[in-house]
Amino acid sequence: MSTKSCTSLLQMSRMGLKLHTSIAPHCSTRALRLTPVTSICLSHISADSPHRRPYSSSIKVRSYLQYLKRKIISPPSPPYSHVCQVGDPVLRSCAAAVDPAAITGCEIQQVISTMVKVMRKLECVGLSAPQIGVPLRIVVLEYPEKMLEESSSASRKVRGLSVQPLRIFVNPQLRVLDGQTVLFQEACESISGYSATVPRYLSVEVSGLNEKGEAVTWQASGWPARILQHEMDHLDGVLYIDRMDSKTFININWQAHNEK
Ligand SMILES: [Zn+2]
Repeated sequence: MSTKSCTSLLQMSRMGLKLHTSIAPHCSTRALRLTPVTSICLSHISADSPHRRPYSSSIKVRSYLQYLKRKIISPPSPPYSHVCQVGDPVLRSCAAAVDPAAITGCEIQQVISTMVKVMRKLECVGLSAPQIGVPLRIVVLEYPEKMLEESSSASRKVRGLSVQPLRIFVNPQLRVLDGQTVLFQEACESISGYSATVPRYLSVEVSGLNEKGEAVTWQASGWPARILQHEMDHLDGVLYIDRMDSKTFININWQAHNEK
């Protein structure tokens, strides 16, 4: 099975579960449950397995409605308007450099505009191309004023938060300016719902090409330096969970789970 087909199956499965949850109160739950379409990820479980209930996240079930939907509408293809989740092979691959001559072409421009659109839709402060399913060396960053206003003055000072305009880097290269590391909690749209403390360099410099193919260099410190290092890691298939202090790894809704 190719990587692409596996990815599609996983995505269909994920969407199927979501559809099942949202539609169940209005539809016949029985009908949905009696006609599941299992992905081929199930194939390694023998029919007489003692584990009747799925216990592994590798087991995915699509609802019948999802199956019908995919019969009519083909699944989305990259650049996605959603963010790929950990487990997707694209997040663990080393992204390829972009041909500088292709930057102003419509394909790369579409990737960049989708990245910006998704970043703003999710209200996150950075995104890499692999996160929307495109294994190319492109990152976008932005720290809007509205977000800064929502933070406390103490947080701004301690974390080194600052408003940052939209910046786009193609084929970026990172240079550490200050080797001192600082620990702060960070999260990732590709590991949705979790967070952990991660050490990052205090100050870095990035060089690369912008969306027009022009050479650009930017020196960042504090929170913008953290965002940059996080996004740059994505280009090499590295996630924050590879660098985190594992004892600080949390489900951000852990408290709400106790209050249900
Ligand atoms: Zn991330």
